[in-house]
Amino acid sequence: MGRTHAIVIGGSFAGLAAGRVLSEFYDRVTVLDRDTFPDGVADRAGVPQARHVHGLLLRGLHEYERFFPGFEALAVERGATFHDHTYDFAVLRPQGWTPRYRSGLKFLSASRELIESCVRDLFRRLPNVALCERAPVIGLDIDKAGPPRCRGVVVPRGSLATGELNSNAADNRETLDADLVVDASGAMSRAPQWLAAAELRPAEETIVDPLAGYSSRWFQGPPPERWPQEWWWWAGAYIRRRPDDLVEANFQLKEHNRWHLTLSGFNRRYPPTDETGFTAFVERLRSPIIAEMTRLMEPISPVYANRAIRNRRRHYESWSERLDGFIAIGDAFCAYNPVYAQGMTAAAMSATMLRGCLERFGPADGALAREFHRAEAEIQHGPWMLSAGVDLRFPFTAGDRPLSLKLFNQYLDRVGAAASDPVVRTRLLEVAQLMRPFDDLFEPAIMVRVGAREIAQAAASLSRIFSMNGARDIPPMPPPPMASESPSAPVAA
Ligand SMILES: Cc1cc2nc3c(=O)[nH]c(=O)nc-3n(C[C@H](O)[C@H](O)[C@H](O)COP(=O)(O)OP(=O)(O)OC[C@H]3O[C@@H](n4cnc5c(N)ncnc54)[C@H](O)[C@@H]3O)c2cc1C
Repeated sequence: MGRTHAIVIGGSFAGLAAGRVLSEFYDRVTVLDRDTFPDGVADRAGVPQARHVHGLLLRGLHEYERFFPGFEALAVERGATFHDHTYDFAVLRPQGWTPRYRSGLKFLSASRELIESCVRDLFRRLPNVALCERAPVIGLDIDKAGPPRCRGVVVPRGSLATGELNSNAADNRETLDADLVVDASGAMSRAPQWLAAAELRPAEETIVDPLAGYSSRWFQGPPPERWPQEWWWWAGAYIRRRPDDLVEANFQLKEHNRWHLTLSGFNRRYPPTDETGFTAFVERLRSPIIAEMTRLMEPISPVYANRAIRNRRRHYESWSERLDGFIAIGDAFCAYNPVYAQGMTAAAMSATMLRGCLERFGPADGALAREFHRAEAEIQHGPWMLSAGVDLRFPFTAGDRPLSLKLFNQYLDRVGAAASDPVVRTRLLEVAQLMRPFDDLFEPAIMVRVGAREIAQAAASLSRIFSMNGARDIPPMPPPPMASESPSAPVAA
C-alpha cells in the first residue's frame, strides 16, 4: 500500500500520548488495547491502579493540553475543578504544616477516570487513528533475516476486524504489519517474554522496592453548608510520612463532590484492606484532620488494595540487542513509586521526546528506536531520582547507594526543611511538579538560601534548649486562616 503505519500496544496515557505524536508522522496509527473502554467517566479492568488516588502534576496538565487542545475545558465540562495546591490544600510534612500561600498555579481536581476519558475522547477525534478495544496483543512479529526488525504484532485470530491482517491458520494467530510498534502496555508489559520468544535477550531491569502498599476508598462529600467555615482546605489534605512513622494519607476532592482517600505505608506497614481496619488506621494518623473530614462524609466504595508499589526501569537505552521498529514508552519503559504522582506526566514527557526524535530522524530511520530510548532515559532520569532515588534513602529499600545519591538525599532533606523560605519552596514545588529539572535545586542561589535557613534553624534550636522551651509543637490541625486571607473558592479554569 506504500502508506506508513504505526501500532501502539495499550490505549492508556502513554499509548494515547504516543499515538497523538505518531499521528503527525505516520499515515495511520492503530492503538490496540485488550480492555473494553467505558462510555464516559468510569472504572475499567485494564488499569486497576485507577482505584487509588491519581494526581496529575502541573507539567502533565500542560503536556496533555498541548497534545489535545481543549483538554482542560472538557475536563471542566465533565466536573473537574481547579485549585491552588499551596492555598487550598493542607499538607502536614515532618517539619509541620506547610505554610499557606498563593502560588498562582492551578492544579486539576479530577479522578484518573475523568482525565483518561478526556484524553481518550480527544484522541478519537484525530482523523488518522483507530483505537481498538478487546484487541489483546500476544506477541511481536520480528524479522531476523537481516538486522532484527519488528514488523508488526501478533493478535489472536478474529480479535480485530481489519482487512490488513495476515492470517496463520496453523496456530490461530494473526499478524498486523507496522513500520513502528510502540509498547505502551504498562508496568506489567509482556514485551520481555515476547522478545525472549524471538531469542532476543530482554533489556536489563532495575527494581527499587520500598515495600509499600496502598489502600483506598471513595467518599461522597457533604453539602457545602456542612463544611466548617474555618476549614480552608476545601481541595484536600495530605499527611506525609515521617522517618519514624512511615505512613501517609492523601485525601483529595474529585469531581461531583466525591473524595478519594488513599492510605499508604512503607517497609511492609501495609494499610488495612478491610473497612474497620481502614477506619481505625485513619483515626490513628498523627493529625485528626482526615478522620474529621471523613466523619462528614459517606463511604461509597469498598476498600481497594494495591501492593505493586515500586520503581521499575527497563534499560532499553543500554540494551545489548538491536531491534529496529520497536520502542517502549510509559510504564512499560519506567514505572515509578506512585507516591510521587509522576507516571501520567512522565509518559507525556516521553511522548514529547518521541516527537523530537521523529523530527530529527524521520519515521523510517533504523536509528529511531535506539536514539529514542537514549533520549527517553535522559528525560526520565529526573523523575527516577525523585522517586527511586528518594526511596533509596530508606535502609529497608534494597539497591546501590553511591555517595552521590546519599548526598542528594541529604541535600533534599535540607531543601525540605528550608521550605519556609518562599524562594526555596517555589523552586521545590516546580521541581516536584516536573516543571523544572531537579538540578535546578542545586543552583547556587538556592543552595545559599538552604544553607542560611539551616543556620537559622540550628540557632533557633539552641535558643530553645537554653530557654528550656523544648521542641516546637506541631498543632494537630492546620492553623486558621489569617484575617487578611480571602475565603477560598475553586480557581477558574
Ligand atoms: C496505585 C497507583 C497509583 C498511581 N498514582 C498516580 C498518580 O497519582 N499520578 C500519576 O501521574 N501516576 C500515578 N500512577 C501511575 C500511572 O497509573 C501510570 O504511570 C499511567 O497510567 C501511565 O501508564 P501507561 O499508559 O504506561 O500504562 P497503564 O496506564 O498501566 O496502561 C496500560 C494499558 O495497556 C493495556 N494492555 C496491557 N497489556 C496489553 C496487551 N497485551 N495488549 C493490548 N493492551 C494491553 C491495558 O489494558 C492498559 O489500558 C499510579 C500507579 C499506581 C499503581
